[in-house]
Amino acid sequence: MDKICAIFGGSRGIGRGVAQLMAQKGYRLAIISRNLEVAKATARELGVHHLAFRCDVAKEQDVQNTFEEMEKSLGPVKFLVNSAGLNRNNLLVRTETEDMISLLHTNLLGSMLTCKAAVKTMIRQQGGSIVNIGSIIGLKGLPGESAYCASKAGLVGFSRALAKEVARKKIRVNVVEPGFIHTDMTKQWKEEDLKKNIPLGRFGVPIEVAHAVVFLLESPYITGHVLVVDGGLKLAM
Ligand code: NDP
Repeated sequence: MDKICAIFGGSRGIGRGVAQLMAQKGYRLAIISRNLEVAKATARELGVHHLAFRCDVAKEQDVQNTFEEMEKSLGPVKFLVNSAGLNRNNLLVRTETEDMISLLHTNLLGSMLTCKAAVKTMIRQQGGSIVNIGSIIGLKGLPGESAYCASKAGLVGFSRALAKEVARKKIRVNVVEPGFIHTDMTKQWKEEDLKKNIPLGRFGVPIEVAHAVVFLLESPYITGHVLVVDGGLKLAM
């Protein structure tokens, strides 16, 4: 049977790196983002077995529709990666409530909605594996990132609770927490200034996060775990 994995946020950045590694390992992938054309281009590059879907994870109806479409065209999802996310750094006193809400909706509620839909499918299949992408700064905190940190810290609490809730159904839930990774999201961050705080002396690249994601997806005896992939940044924060 095909190993079918849904990658929300699979069109670019870390999610795309995960997709590249999983395609090499023989998974059949659903590449999902709000921009269908970009998702399609990524799926095409990965090979003929992979499909693209348009979905805004912050919208429950979109998520439901996407799971129905994936089941029809690929089959039931047994693996889920939540890499869809956004960041809008600003001091709390300057952050509009709307920005707080959109961060929480995309980064936290979005993953909760996709997990809910996936768990229903996984229960029917008597097993499954989920990896949510958090952030090292959700653990350590960073000035100017309070709303983003709230969304990522919330994701850890959610994932641990869900891991306990569904373990008896043979469904595992884990979190990967990247440090600074070269993607569109970090384009405005200056590696030159920041790398002195990173013990390994550089930003990471998506494929380096992908190896950790796939490790957790495929590790049958690990659940509720938070795996940090940050070049040692946590040690210095
Ligand atoms: P990118 O901006 O490079 O990619 C984000 C991906 O998420 C794109 O595929 C984007 O596609 C998709 N996406 C964004 N919003 C939505 C939405 N509402 N619904 C569906 N898809 C959406 O970001 P990264 O790859 O850097 O980040 C991936 C994850 O890793 C995020 O959760 C981020 O918070 C986390 N992270 C990143 C770090 C880094 O240094 N890069 C560090 C720590 C954590 P589209 O815009 O077409 O919807």
